[in-house]
Amino acid sequence: MTLDITDAPIDMRESVEQVLTMAASEMLNHRFDDYPLEAVGILCVDGSVYPLINQARSAHRFEVSQILVREAIEALNRRGFSPIAVYHSHPTSSTGPSTRDVELMSNMPGVLSVIIGLDGITAWRWEDGLQSVARIELPERKVDGEPT
Ligand SMILES: [Zn+2]
Repeated sequence: MTLDITDAPIDMRESVEQVLTMAASEMLNHRFDDYPLEAVGILCVDGSVYPLINQARSAHRFEVSQILVREAIEALNRRGFSPIAVYHSHPTSSTGPSTRDVELMSNMPGVLSVIIGLDGITAWRWEDGLQSVARIELPERKVDGEPT
């Protein structure tokens, strides 16, 4: 599967941090656009993002059908993009995964999961337990119009 980064090179941590840095403003815009709902999308290795619809329409969880994710990944692959993670936002909390997030990750070992929280952006994955692969901090500022 394309999202599997188990074979990623040793310097993956640094690489993932670079991807997060490149994609940060676009992911933050997406979080803002979908507020107060959780935003969800696909992150590509060049830092481009591909927003998906949160079918749960919820501020506390996200839901995207496997079919939609697969179609989006295939479409991105055809256009020459390399998806590396599914991201979602926590509109009112930190980048710490929810119980449900941890459960999802444990069912997809090796797959990167990016969470955009109020405190930063963290890339997680399950590999013999939950691991924080890379993290970037966000400046202490609110986007105009975004409630606290
Ligand atoms: Zn979550």
